[in-house]
Amino acid sequence: MTPWTAFSLGHSGSVARMTTTDSAPRAEGILWDLSSLCASADECREHLATALVDCRAFEARYRGTVATMDGATLAAALAEMARIDNVLGRLHSYASLRESVDVTDAGNQDLNALLDRSMVEASNALRFFELEWLEMDEEEAARLADSPEVAADRHHLISERRFRTHTLTEPEERMLAERSPAATSAWQTLFGRITSTLEAGFDSGDGVEPHTIDRLLACVRSPDRDTRFGALDALYGALSPHAPTLAHCYDTLVGDRLAMDQLRAYDDPMDPTHLRNEVPGAAIEAMMGAVERHYGLAQRWFRVKAALMGLDRLHLADQYAPLGEARQVLFPEARGIISASFRAFSPRIGDIAEGFFAEARIDAQPRTGKRGGAFCASVAQDARPFVLMNYTDRMDDVMTLAHELGHGMHFTLSAERQTALSFHTGLALAEVPSTFAELIAFDHLMSTEQDAATRTALVCERVEGSFATVFRQTVLARYEQDAYRMRRDGTTLTDERLSAAWITQNAAYYGDAVEMPDGYGLGWSYIPHFISTRFYTYAYVFAHLVTLALYSRFREDGAAFIPAYLEFLSAGGSAAPADLLRPLGVDLTDPGCWDAGFREMQTMVKRAEEMTSA
Ligand SMILES: [Zn+2]
Repeated sequence: MTPWTAFSLGHSGSVARMTTTDSAPRAEGILWDLSSLCASADECREHLATALVDCRAFEARYRGTVATMDGATLAAALAEMARIDNVLGRLHSYASLRESVDVTDAGNQDLNALLDRSMVEASNALRFFELEWLEMDEEEAARLADSPEVAADRHHLISERRFRTHTLTEPEERMLAERSPAATSAWQTLFGRITSTLEAGFDSGDGVEPHTIDRLLACVRSPDRDTRFGALDALYGALSPHAPTLAHCYDTLVGDRLAMDQLRAYDDPMDPTHLRNEVPGAAIEAMMGAVERHYGLAQRWFRVKAALMGLDRLHLADQYAPLGEARQVLFPEARGIISASFRAFSPRIGDIAEGFFAEARIDAQPRTGKRGGAFCASVAQDARPFVLMNYTDRMDDVMTLAHELGHGMHFTLSAERQTALSFHTGLALAEVPSTFAELIAFDHLMSTEQDAATRTALVCERVEGSFATVFRQTVLARYEQDAYRMRRDGTTLTDERLSAAWITQNAAYYGDAVEMPDGYGLGWSYIPHFISTRFYTYAYVFAHLVTLALYSRFREDGAAFIPAYLEFLSAGGSAAPADLLRPLGVDLTDPGCWDAGFREMQTMVKRAEEMTSA
């Protein structure tokens, strides 16, 4: 559920990547400067103590008064809450960002742990406000939310109430919350422990070494076919003895969620997710149906790829085999590519990107003790966002940088216009600006890049990246639907049954174009989304297709599209996704609204086919 206060860092785009074993300095000296957030750990502790006093003062002042508030008092309370939210957001980000570049430092760990505990304390002090707001009757709440004084937070106020009819009484909610660590989290923890500690001995080039799941999956992108095949075999071999336990974790969680759905009066197991994402279930069903009707597009590409590789039929292990080899790109060139492409789209967007470089808000140099992957931290509505990545001179890294700066332009523009409570968008739209930014950088590269192998690699990765998001994540959501259906019909989710459901949905996607290995039945077993948040994956599909549709509109309308797009970014989370997208010509009530996205994909596939056959 959406918290009242947006304490979360807004981390996104956390893509696990292989760390480089090469010791040559990459993006040397590209380190962020966090001093704009806080001068030191001591200052952070001091400000934190004050902020917690402010939280308790807020509670003392407003507890028991929400029902009798008028527009002006509500506005004053929201403004104070937003101020506290901004302070805590800066402090939490400061501690968390410090730790993310040196996770082994004990001082960083202490500070971050203190912040985590304090966030819980702050939430506990402020929680009454949400509960009192939810208790208010419908008419009274609607009247109050319509007050001109709170216009900036109107959507936030109204949308907070969407879970109201699915919320139990306070003692019931408290009991469920108290039982949750044993009843729910314990299974998630067990799943996490098994999958994060699992290792298989495998030789990926440096002799036989223990490989984690992530490392094995990275090997599936190796140019060497034996390595790819061996990595998949090792993966399924290592998972196999744990399959019954992993299935039992899932079975218990699905059973618990279905029981909760009954208590909370949800008809369909997807409804809680739709409600959280603020998207209509009918639109998502139409979208998934449209994706399935286009599985043939992927199969066509798989056949082309098999032919390019001299194979009769593509094997699952060849799915992400690289075609073409992109050249290296040093960081200063990446900065130039990003700046030129963003500026050509819009000078304002170019300025925002340049701000990240000029104000040292990017940490790109890989080093020991720094966490992997990449993210953009929104920090706070009255602060500037920061980007973490591990730059290794690969063309891929340029795309990652564009992606994270796409989040950055969203956070920056939204923060300028929205309040602290309304500037975050929900999950459904969060990945739109980042994916859009990748397309801007991609188009720029395709118009400037001279190296043929790099161009081929760029185009093929774009096609396969879209497939992995749009098609594969739909397969995952369909598999989940099957699992919930089985469990609701009284069927225990054993590993064999889950494997059968998994293979059925994958077979629909791959058709006869891709050969699935025997072990692939266990493909479901290590995917964390199923365990942490049900039906999480369709949001990726949604964002990707929406982005492609917007990009095709940009290509058609040219400069006329840009002000509307910037307006969309500035609107942040001030309206539901359907309302934010309508001015851009995407009407979620129209089942045909997904067609534009698929036309873009068809064009991309055609381009890839032409380039690889040339
Ligand atoms: Zn992202």
